[in-house]
Amino acid sequence: MKSLIVKGFLFLISSLLSREAISQSITENYIQADVKICGKPSDSKGTTGGSDYIKKITFQPYVVDENETFSVSCAVKTNDIQSLIIYWPDYDKGMLLLNDIPCDSITLFDNGQNGDIKANDNIFTIYNLRRNSAFIQFNYVGGFFVRYCNVKYIFRNGSSVIENVDLAFGIRFINSQKVDIPGVLKINDSIQYSSHVVNLVEELEGQSLNDYMNNSFKIEVEVIKKYYKYFPDDRDFFVVSSTFPTPNAPAGWCETVSNDIVGISSPDNIYNLSPNYGSGGRLKSIISTFFTYGGNAGLVNHEILHKWAAYLSSKLYLTDGTGHWGAVEFQNSGLGLFCGQHLYRLNDTIYRIYNDRNNAKVGYNTLELYLMGLLPFDSVSFPIKSLVNFKYKGSYWFWNTNYEPALYESGSEFTADSISYVDKAKYLKYMPLRNPDFSISQKDFYYEGRRKKE
Ligand SMILES: [Zn+2]
Repeated sequence: MKSLIVKGFLFLISSLLSREAISQSITENYIQADVKICGKPSDSKGTTGGSDYIKKITFQPYVVDENETFSVSCAVKTNDIQSLIIYWPDYDKGMLLLNDIPCDSITLFDNGQNGDIKANDNIFTIYNLRRNSAFIQFNYVGGFFVRYCNVKYIFRNGSSVIENVDLAFGIRFINSQKVDIPGVLKINDSIQYSSHVVNLVEELEGQSLNDYMNNSFKIEVEVIKKYYKYFPDDRDFFVVSSTFPTPNAPAGWCETVSNDIVGISSPDNIYNLSPNYGSGGRLKSIISTFFTYGGNAGLVNHEILHKWAAYLSSKLYLTDGTGHWGAVEFQNSGLGLFCGQHLYRLNDTIYRIYNDRNNAKVGYNTLELYLMGLLPFDSVSFPIKSLVNFKYKGSYWFWNTNYEPALYESGSEFTADSISYVDKAKYLKYMPLRNPDFSISQKDFYYEGRRKKE
């Protein structure tokens, strides 16, 4: 049986992340992360997302102009399949055009026709797909990403079977009127780079959709070491973005690599694992993003913030123990999840948190910027209101037309013991001041976004 070959890494190079740059980039995208965003996959063997039949599925090419046509190519594990049908999930129906007609499903053949390069090679293809501009709209960069859907396999003997599988693949669209395509410089056949991207070629042998996820940590170490052979050790962050299908993957995660800052976690945690990757100490964390091909600024900003937050003392009732904020009233946040702009008590045991409608603010708040070293402690907005011993109950919404304009509120409900208020004195009772403080803290950061390409 043929092996999968993963052989490519694109590095998005060298954006200077000053405080202002962070604030700007964060507003480009929705940052309120869903709970899945940072967790590691619950089952790295892929028993839920893996496929019994599909070895590899990709859009070809991975990135297209806004109206360019593209194909889907699917390698399978057996040689008894005649054709296969992918039914787009409900929310994806009609998003792509097939022969200029909106489609709910696509049928792939291995007959050497209609874009299938070679008959009976167990690689099934369909071509002449295109973005449906009525549904997929974007200003600079857009995308289409497929997760769980039904796939029907029709076998040569006439029988068929339907499998629900996490395909976890996708394609990016670029507005060629607004996005410049940079020139590419070549170091050798396996390394090319431009002003913003380095492409590093590696190979991975594998047999199934899950092989990338099962080997992702090992691959990251190898490729980052290779990066340092050719490029200087001047990066604070790597952003790894796979274009290989990644079933069971969350949107992204952050592996912290080193920390020399006191006062951002309880207890203080000073460590330096950067030599494991070939860095002399500059490297702070490695952010992996999956199936979104690196285009999600909100996700990257969320994961970058994990370098510094949220690891405060549990006695402040500000964190949830997973590196995220608890049920906290913040006007905005880079970590999202349970926090929101308004926190109130509904009755004896039920509390609510909601954001202003159409006014949800994205971006790092003053506490987050302080922890990052980008604001002095005196600039943190106190008191900070949060729920003590909260449990998420569910979402809620109501619409009251007795008001003009009608009052609309939607958010999350919690049970909790009480509301806590953290003022400056209480904060300092449980957390030491950040050291280094604002006067000498690092203000400029470089990151390297890396895109893995097959
Ligand atoms: Zn997170």
